[in-house]
Amino acid sequence: MYLGAHVSIAGGFDKCLDRISDLGGNTLMTFASSPRSLRTKDFTQEEIEKYNKKKAQLNIGPHFFHGVYLVNLASESKSYLKASVESLIFYQRFASQIEAVGTIFHVGSHKGRGLSETLTQIVQSINFILDNSPKGIKLILENSAGQGGTIGDTFEELELIINRIGDKSKIGICLDTQHAFASGYNMTTLLDVFDHKIGFKRLSVIHFNDSLTEFNSHKDRHANLGEGKIGAESMQKLLNDPRLKNVPFILETPGLNHSGPRKEDIAYLKSLVVQ
Ligand SMILES: [Zn+2]
Repeated sequence: MYLGAHVSIAGGFDKCLDRISDLGGNTLMTFASSPRSLRTKDFTQEEIEKYNKKKAQLNIGPHFFHGVYLVNLASESKSYLKASVESLIFYQRFASQIEAVGTIFHVGSHKGRGLSETLTQIVQSINFILDNSPKGIKLILENSAGQGGTIGDTFEELELIINRIGDKSKIGICLDTQHAFASGYNMTTLLDVFDHKIGFKRLSVIHFNDSLTEFNSHKDRHANLGEGKIGAESMQKLLNDPRLKNVPFILETPGLNHSGPRKEDIAYLKSLVVQ
């Protein structure tokens, strides 16, 4: 099974591999640029080679990118939209250079205008990104918690977008358990509903987070496994569902003081696996 976490690239891109290895994970997610900006900077060939060599040595599995949270494909501002699209294209191209799976991202927020007002722009932007994405690299839409007009909190909304995309083979879905719980999806039927509305063939990865906030709260607040409102029992059932056997699980949990997933969090995640 692939079990891992979101880790930092601070101090050199290849350092993310040391971090996930130290945590005891075998799959990882990272940014590929500063999360505080839509600006990007190319990595050197030397940095890429260093990473590739280390990845083979440490025997780490799938690497996912997470687009910066500032990305908003529903933005009213043309220049902001352009910067969002360019950031994601940079991520997709870099993903190909390091043989990552692709880029997980949040579609954005319509800020009260409604999805129907922004759907055409979103679909056109995604199609443009896909046209500029290298072969085999997935653009992965993540379900949201529905906070403040964020798009994709229901599977119907995600499906509405996917249905209008040209090359669906390049599209994946990231299912975030906390976002689903906050959006009012019952954990016992979550996977049935997901399969019915979207289908497991699109599922690329799970963001495996417990929830600090109540069911149906529409708030995006992650909790460490076993410390949240979803609870260890429901999380364990999801983790061991045979339908998710080949899907990587990534922690985006706060750890201690929001410093991110710790070694003990990965150890706890592993302990939930029923052999
Ligand atoms: Zn997430």
